[in-house]
Amino acid sequence: MPPHDFLKTQTLRLATVRVGDLLNTPLESRFNRLAHLARCALGVQAATISLFDGEREWIKTADGANLWEELPLTQSLAASLSRDGVPVLVRDTLEDDRCRLHHLVTRTPGVRFFAVYPLRDQANNVIGALVAYDTAPRQSTDEMTRVLGDVGQLAQRELFLTEAAGAQERLLMKLSSARRQALLDDLTRLWNRRGGLQLLDHAIVNGAGQHEGLGVCIADLDRFKDVNDTHGHRAGDIVLKRSAATMVDSVRPGDAVCRLGGEEFLLIIPAVSVTELTDVLEHVRARVAAQMVRIGEVTIRVTLSLGGYLHAPNEPTTTEDLLQRADNAVYQAKAAGRNVVV
Ligand code: GH3
Ligand code: MG
Ligand code: MG
Repeated sequence: MPPHDFLKTQTLRLATVRVGDLLNTPLESRFNRLAHLARCALGVQAATISLFDGEREWIKTADGANLWEELPLTQSLAASLSRDGVPVLVRDTLEDDRCRLHHLVTRTPGVRFFAVYPLRDQANNVIGALVAYDTAPRQSTDEMTRVLGDVGQLAQRELFLTEAAGAQERLLMKLSSARRQALLDDLTRLWNRRGGLQLLDHAIVNGAGQHEGLGVCIADLDRFKDVNDTHGHRAGDIVLKRSAATMVDSVRPGDAVCRLGGEEFLLIIPAVSVTELTDVLEHVRARVAAQMVRIGEVTIRVTLSLGGYLHAPNEPTTTEDLLQRADNAVYQAKAAGRNVVV
């Protein structure tokens, strides 16, 4: 690999100063959907949306890529191909001098088709990239270039739209990127236990005096130990990641999904009636049950048990009290045979 000099380009260096606010944010369905759209419309194995900070390529979302790799910026193919700020489609990486010796290309299976659409901030600096890739070479057509550009522009627009986040999430978004990082779970990119408890606190305060109730749910993967025992811990990690993304994509825009620990999640569903809460949780259950995680030759399916509780807005409560009630409900869901909502 020739030494990378793209960090020296003015565009990227300036941009890294401004990208901080966007880093260390939880998984968001609006970005998951765009990566999914890019992957399907381009007919490739995987698509990601990445941001570049001073040191690394930080992957905001990945569709079709089971294990996200967080690369130092100097090793990032996406960053080096984005340096000129124009879209690049590499039909076959083995025939391209910029890619041929990169470790993503030389490993087995290596990346053969690679496309990037550089994402820019309002001042036109490159701050990240929409990436699409495949382990087989591809013809690149005008139509593909157009699709890549269309989805890339949507992703760029979404980066600067904060209204789409829920009320409590906006609160945490105001924290510095470093403080927010301490509230996120590394594996799943969900809020971690601390983040979840803070969100729940805010939700209780925000919900007081309102007309509708606050839904709280604990969701626990069923017989997850068996997944690890049968397919290995690494496969278990991939299943956890995929299930987390499926949950994020199955709740409503203002709802929050957090990883309490292990294979146990907290869902915060504000401003709902009993029927609405049941509908949301039933939807999450069905989506996870329908999800198929393919790892190499095997397909893994898992189910969730969900225990929900609807808190009436005018009753005093605490985070501990709500968690305890949701915990009782998930215990009943397990006793009822799993893969159910109680
Ligand atoms: P149940 O239906 O009763 O919930 O059964 P279960 O097997 O899911 O429950 P149990 O609490 O016995 O086991 C949870 C398992 O989750 C055990 C642990 O190895 C696994 N686990 C917890 N955290 C992680 C993780 O980060 N990665 C992986 N791969 N496995 C994890
Ligand atoms: Mg479990
Ligand atoms: Mg458990």
